[in-house]
Amino acid sequence: MKRTKVIDALKRTDFGSEITVMGWVRSKRGSKGIFFIALNDGSTIKNVQIVGEDQNFDEETVKQITTGACLRVVGTLVESPAAGQASEIQAGEIEVLGPCDNTYPLQKKGASWEYLRTVAHMRPRTNTFGAILRIRHNMAMAIHTYFYEHGFYYFHTPLITASDCEGAGNMFQVTTKNLYDLRKDEEGKIIYDDDFFGQQASLTVSGQLEGELGATALGQIYTFGPTFRAENSNTPRHLAEFWMIEPEMAFYDKEDLMDLEEDFIKYCVRWALDNCRDDLEFLNKMVDKTLIERLEGVLQEAFVRLPYTQGIEILKEAVAKGRKFEFPCEWGDDLASEHERYLVEEYFKKPVIMTDYPKEIKAFYMKLNEDGRTMQGTDVLFPQIGEIIGGSVREENYGKLMNEINRRGMETEKLEWYLDTRRWGSCPHAGFGLGFERLILFVTGMQNIRDVIPFPRTPKNCEF
Ligand code: ATP
Ligand code: MN
Repeated sequence: MKRTKVIDALKRTDFGSEITVMGWVRSKRGSKGIFFIALNDGSTIKNVQIVGEDQNFDEETVKQITTGACLRVVGTLVESPAAGQASEIQAGEIEVLGPCDNTYPLQKKGASWEYLRTVAHMRPRTNTFGAILRIRHNMAMAIHTYFYEHGFYYFHTPLITASDCEGAGNMFQVTTKNLYDLRKDEEGKIIYDDDFFGQQASLTVSGQLEGELGATALGQIYTFGPTFRAENSNTPRHLAEFWMIEPEMAFYDKEDLMDLEEDFIKYCVRWALDNCRDDLEFLNKMVDKTLIERLEGVLQEAFVRLPYTQGIEILKEAVAKGRKFEFPCEWGDDLASEHERYLVEEYFKKPVIMTDYPKEIKAFYMKLNEDGRTMQGTDVLFPQIGEIIGGSVREENYGKLMNEINRRGMETEKLEWYLDTRRWGSCPHAGFGLGFERLILFVTGMQNIRDVIPFPRTPKNCEF
């Protein structure tokens, strides 16, 4: 089926030529025997205008040209007298490929985000979701291109894993066992010997541990794949299935790591501004009037680099001056998103890389500082979002890492392969995890993470 995509049709200037376009009717209006169709095929936020005279088409066809219908139009490309478009198509032949009656759920403009989630299988056909999904695609391209240009290898880590050392308790299990008839031992524990993997297995919460195996062999790697967390947190920033980008680099210290985090995010934001202009302008108009300004702002400023201890001082000062927070913020507390956003949006008014967290609130693999109580974490906090990146220098010293593992009472039985990296040829290394959907939230100005992934998975929601 030969056709010109709308994005290309709008660039053509060979007026008088024949052209074929296919797409879905966004709207149709008409007067005095002439009709105008706004046709969109997903290649751009822009529609191509089709003009036709009622008398040239049979009545049944004209009746079937309704919002949502799918058309094939053959006509002549002409210069458009209308403002805001260079060309339009004078229809010679219209074929209704797929009619669309008035039960179509996207007929009305201005449907709520909540409503659109109930028709997630159809919402990609709206202007806003078209824009978001094109931007999402472009961000994936930006990420691969960035790492390609910087000599990182794309390393594939497993999605099914037997090591549950990281997220303790928030993993989805993978099993082929008959859940209605589980065999248990005398202590009441499930016997996994006869399960598919012969042991308890889960969906991964992060590819980091395996990523470290890659980095300590190939030098610089990144992963980009789905991640699963059964955290029952109904927030606008958490999904049960999300995509994560996890670069891991040998011979990186904390400064190198922060430089990479900042450079990488800025590269992605710049890519959006350079490659998604039409979609961003649409979102800037319809969703968030300060979006483009905010994206440009991030590029202009150096991110603040703020040790956790100093961050707590700033927060306590704010509390002393009467600022109210829902959650406490004493030294040792994990910062809530309200604290992160206060620092980023109100205090510094720019992105913050927070460093050197108390070891009690961070993972076992982070490098311990000389002070013995803080770890070399480097989380990036963003306006509107809060934490967008979680990163750290990894503890490369076998003895120190084992101390931390023992202090936490962790079992090492399933971690031996990981510890081998520290046993043989251990090297300083660091890495981070960027939540892809959090990046998309920032770049689109959307408020809810359910609206920046085609089919969101959240507690009690697994439709489509
Ligand atoms: P948070 O405190 O926001 O739950 P986290 O500390 O659990 O984040 P990490 O384990 O460091 O996050 O994961 C790395 C990155 O993955 C985070 O910075 C965030 O961008 C993203 N992320 C984490 N959990 C989720 C989730 N449930 N849904 C979407 N993105 C997530
Ligand atoms: Mn979390």
